[in-house]
Amino acid sequence: MNIYGFTRNELEDIFDKIGEKKFKATQVYEWLYKKRVNSFDEMTNIKKDVIDYLKQNYNLNKLEILKKQVGNDVVKYLFKLEDNNKIEAVLMKHDYGNSLCVSSQVGCNMGCSFCESGRLKKVRNLEAYEIVLQILQVEEDLKIRITHVVMMGIGEPFDNYDNVIKFVKIVNDPKGIELGARHITISTCGIIPKIKEFMNLDLQVNLAISLHASNNELRSKLMNINKAYNISELLDVIKEYVNKTNRRVTFEYIMLKDVNDKEENAKELANILKGINCYVNLIPYNETSHIEYKKSSKETIMKFYDILKKNNINVTIRKEFGSKVSAACGQLRSNYEEETKWNMHV
Ligand code: SAH
Repeated sequence: MNIYGFTRNELEDIFDKIGEKKFKATQVYEWLYKKRVNSFDEMTNIKKDVIDYLKQNYNLNKLEILKKQVGNDVVKYLFKLEDNNKIEAVLMKHDYGNSLCVSSQVGCNMGCSFCESGRLKKVRNLEAYEIVLQILQVEEDLKIRITHVVMMGIGEPFDNYDNVIKFVKIVNDPKGIELGARHITISTCGIIPKIKEFMNLDLQVNLAISLHASNNELRSKLMNINKAYNISELLDVIKEYVNKTNRRVTFEYIMLKDVNDKEENAKELANILKGINCYVNLIPYNETSHIEYKKSSKETIMKFYDILKKNNINVTIRKEFGSKVSAACGQLRSNYEEETKWNMHV
């Protein structure tokens, strides 16, 4: 089993079981995440027989960086997993820090009509260690510190809930990577039972909801999940979430030309979000070669923005990153039949 998949509590239980002191688990954690060793032998304050036990039962295997593509302020990674499946992660350099967009599944079953990631159905969930390693390996490769993580790569995080929460606990641990919970954002298409579970965990992690439409008819056309959990149910649970956690929620709204970008959509959106402590992130659609939708014009996006503003909705327009290296939102994928897109092998 991969050692990067354990929370510190779980590691303590392992040490307890073999009759070792629990604080030894903390020392191992520090070797892994503070000092970043690549073998058990380097853990010099751990006794030989414990090292041998760890070696027999656990490994520090890494993902393989298959390819890497570098753009302006953006680096996209293609990783190979141990079972040969592939996933992507994207590093974005912002003025406030380095943000990594990580994947949570191989493929995705949500079937949103505009998204590239779902063209390959879910093959499997990522294990917690496979999400943790995306961070460790990008940091090692670029010799940088990642300050923010967004779970907006391939997959639906709340369709892999347990591993995603475990991942959050591992990277948030002060004896480990120590990434602040407030610097982690989980984005979901709106799986209500999991939003409820999540809100009861009392984590300080940010929640983003992929809304993308202002009414049910439109949203059901764009996103299958809306047939299971519709907008009013979703907004009810979000209100509950905001009340309980006192945290602001982000709504993501992709701007699709002539589909959801009309003035009436903006008014409708402002109306349904009225009174919710939230902000709307308008996302200029990134066109992909397989999907018909077109991006709204700059003027349309600005008009939409103005209507929301006028109606007292906090709104921002997402900075466009990485469309040249197909690293932008919705362009990440697990199926690599068309290798030509990767033209900058490293
Ligand atoms: N499944 C989660 C995580 C994916 S996040 C979710 O749905 O939230 C990726 C974000 O990018 C989502 O808001 C998604 O709807 C959006 N997205 C998908 N395809 C896109 C595209 N082509 N251009 C811009 N954003 C896109």
